[in-house]
Amino acid sequence: MRTFDVIVVGAGPSGLSTALKCAEQGYNVLVIERGKYGRSKPCGGILPLVCQDILDYEFSLRIPSDVLSFPQSLGLFYVPPSGRENGGVLRNYKLLNISRSMFDAWLCSVAIKKKIPILFNTAFLEFREEEKDIKVLVKAGNDILKFKTRYLIGADGALSNVRRHIFSFSDFDIAGILQEHWEAKGDFSEYFYMFLLSKDITPIYGYVIPKNDLFIIGIGVPRDKIRKLQEYLERFKKVLSDEFNFVPISLIKKEVGFIPQGTIVEGKDNVIFVGDAGGFCNPFSGEGIRLAIETGIAASGAVLQADTNGEPLTVVYRQNVESIVDFILNVRKFMLNLNSDETREDFVRSELSRSSITDH
Ligand SMILES: Cc1cc2nc3c(=O)[nH]c(=O)nc-3n(C[C@H](O)[C@H](O)[C@H](O)COP(=O)(O)OP(=O)(O)OC[C@H]3O[C@@H](n4cnc5c(N)ncnc54)[C@H](O)[C@@H]3O)c2cc1C
Repeated sequence: MRTFDVIVVGAGPSGLSTALKCAEQGYNVLVIERGKYGRSKPCGGILPLVCQDILDYEFSLRIPSDVLSFPQSLGLFYVPPSGRENGGVLRNYKLLNISRSMFDAWLCSVAIKKKIPILFNTAFLEFREEEKDIKVLVKAGNDILKFKTRYLIGADGALSNVRRHIFSFSDFDIAGILQEHWEAKGDFSEYFYMFLLSKDITPIYGYVIPKNDLFIIGIGVPRDKIRKLQEYLERFKKVLSDEFNFVPISLIKKEVGFIPQGTIVEGKDNVIFVGDAGGFCNPFSGEGIRLAIETGIAASGAVLQADTNGEPLTVVYRQNVESIVDFILNVRKFMLNLNSDETREDFVRSELSRSSITDH
């Protein structure tokens, strides 16, 4: 049975950051990915600029131009419950607009160039902790493969299968997001449009992202409303038609995904969780790629420290991510207070007064 120092389940940004850093530290790493190379992941593909800085500082990487979408950068336009006329643009704020599948494929190609093995089309099935090692079972086609590792990293997303071995899925709060990619007409400019409308239209948020020649229209709802996602999206599109002259022409793609809503699971013993699998995603904005990368970096630091000092990985990792956990829990608290038209209106007003310009 092949033995590795670190096995990472999931080749998204959290898993690949962990793998890249662990390999840089001299560890023998294996990545297991259920999807194919270049797999598609439901995502808006919006990155804060700091994400590029982190990639540069930590990995000496620059996002290649072909990973960027058109327009390459977007401003942020808020729309409150009272509608577009009281919305506007946050001043001095820019976001990167990327193709998510190309971004992850690019990170995979970086890892492959560094000779980190990634087993694509291979699904994690289960792990068993033994005296010294962790035995990991995976399925590739009809074959069941077994590996041994000292440290197991669950980087397998919001519905993490690794996490389900130690933490009940029903206790892990998630939101559902429905996205449609439309060829459409509309009165939109180069902004990421964030809609905080009444809760009966956008229970969490709605958004519009211009991407290449299309518009991504998305809506996020809490777990108990996931079955009604399409209804909410239809109501949201009606607002877009009324306020932004949105005219759909052709639906190119439709996808559902999930984001963590403030439940944090760092890990147990020598098994830890990074990115969405551990709940490391901004529950209010759904921004998770940066936190995925940051927790991947924190995880690799924890592996080194745990290995050097003979400490349990989870104990060290918990310390390394403490400030990220605080941030997420604070955002969650803040978000629960944004539960009325009035508080949403106040929030947008205060955001825009920070910028003191409006742009309709
Ligand atoms: C609709 C939507 C829009 C979003 N928009 C944005 C955005 O614009 N900007 C932003 O920053 N964040 C966004 N997010 C959040 C962001 O996508 C996540 O936070 C981010 O992908 C987390 O990265 P990750 O590596 O932890 O997990 P993922 O990117 O989910 O990667 C997990 C990987 O694990 C693999 N996997 C799963 N199960 C197994 C298994 N059993 N065996 C092997 N492999 C497995 C999956 O195939 C996948 O490749 C959005 C989320 C959704 C749902």
